[in-house]
Amino acid sequence: MKKILFVTSEVHPLIKTGGLADVSSSLPKALAELGQEVKLILPNYRSLKLNHEPTLRSVFLIGKHTVRILETFLPDSQVPVFLVDCPEYFGLVGNPYVDGFGNSYVNNAERFTLFCRAAIEVAMNRAELDWKADIVHCNDWQTGLIPALLSLESLCPQTVFTIHNIAYQGLFNGLTASVLQLPPQLLSPDGLEFHGMLSFIKGGLAYSDKITTVSPTYAQDIQTPELGYGLEGLLIYRNDDLTGIINGIDADWNPEIDSLITQKYSVETLHDKAENKKSLQSCLNLPVNENIFTIGLISRLVEQKGIELILDCLPELLGLPIQLVMLGSGDKNFEQRLHQFAEAYPHKMALTLGYDEKLAHLIEAGADVFLMPSLFEPCGLNQMYSQSYGTLPIVRSTGGLADTVVDTLPKTIANKTATGFVFHAENSGALLETIKRALLLHDFPDAWKKIQTNAMTRDFSWKSSAEQYLALYESIESIEFTQ
Ligand code: ADP
Repeated sequence: MKKILFVTSEVHPLIKTGGLADVSSSLPKALAELGQEVKLILPNYRSLKLNHEPTLRSVFLIGKHTVRILETFLPDSQVPVFLVDCPEYFGLVGNPYVDGFGNSYVNNAERFTLFCRAAIEVAMNRAELDWKADIVHCNDWQTGLIPALLSLESLCPQTVFTIHNIAYQGLFNGLTASVLQLPPQLLSPDGLEFHGMLSFIKGGLAYSDKITTVSPTYAQDIQTPELGYGLEGLLIYRNDDLTGIINGIDADWNPEIDSLITQKYSVETLHDKAENKKSLQSCLNLPVNENIFTIGLISRLVEQKGIELILDCLPELLGLPIQLVMLGSGDKNFEQRLHQFAEAYPHKMALTLGYDEKLAHLIEAGADVFLMPSLFEPCGLNQMYSQSYGTLPIVRSTGGLADTVVDTLPKTIANKTATGFVFHAENSGALLETIKRALLLHDFPDAWKKIQTNAMTRDFSWKSSAEQYLALYESIESIEFTQ
């Protein structure tokens, strides 16, 4: 049994800005179910949603700051969560990274350095909690200083650093290092320095025992100049310690038990899926017609997600016998351009701007296909949700999309592995051709149903991902042992 301190800057349902929060909730629970002793640690943000008052466990000083460690539990679980309480850093209104106006906190480097130092005190059993970690599992740049600072300690836990999206690196002015009082031996180009800047993510990449990212293909992608954001050289150097482990999906993304959809269904009762399409159409004021090919999309409307490719082919796409249902928010320019199309084609396209959990579930249940033409995608969740709802994903072959969707080809139809539609080129022509390919196949209900069945019976559970993390933790120890 391993004692694992899982360090994260967000966790669902306490606080969430993106996929990291989902992983931070599901993976520790899955590891606990495998018999491991996992504890989470995250900052005690003012906007945390807590069901109970947390318990005060420890008080200590970091520099001139008084830090209190509070303890609560992940809702509906026995997994303990330590909260690093330091109101001058985490007591502000806003999300974990930006203030109420959407601007990054000017003291983000100080905030997350304090968080890292507090996590180290807990991991090293110096916070009077009578617990020492075997493994410190760090996530994204906010935790990057932990492996760096721990490398200077003796008898320290092993470290794993997970990259959820390498586009976010925690880069600060080089002079910040002295404000943070970071040990000078960490500041070389082999360490935290990055072209004269201070890079938090490099702390994780240069000093952790193992690096993971959230899919095998993304682990390869980030070793290229196109997707490595300047860190490809370091990642190639650490290639032997870098693994890709695909995220799982939560058990509630399952059409058999989903209470947010109109009609539950399973692979045996696939005909009931049509009820969800009709209710989706009616609640979005589209013509109700269970036979029309319905394309869904739920996404942050940002460049990464390939929204430009969709916009480029929309005039032609909307000329086909289809309906398009989009839910998302993000870049104002994308929002506006999509809105213009939705206004011009009210019978074919419904655009909902904003965040809507219930509508997201209904789109997954009601659409025939789901669009995800991302330019890059570390893992991606919606293409996995879509498969479990029998809503065939149309994806670009990148990162986690390449690892989780099997293209429909004569060979994959024959060997029953086909689960969706995949294209490669980063252009709207390739996207449109692939949508047309899906539209053609949809005219053959028996063939379509077979692919839905393949998709719905795939295992995207957290259990198998957690087993891979556990094997990784265990592999670090065995290397030490054999040395
Ligand atoms: P990323 O983390 O890059 O945004 P993922 O596919 O990994 O992309 O995860 C996105 C998650 O957020 C999914 O659960 C998706 O359904 C959800 N989501 C994104 N936008 C919205 C929205 N506008 N309304 C509801 N859910 C959304």
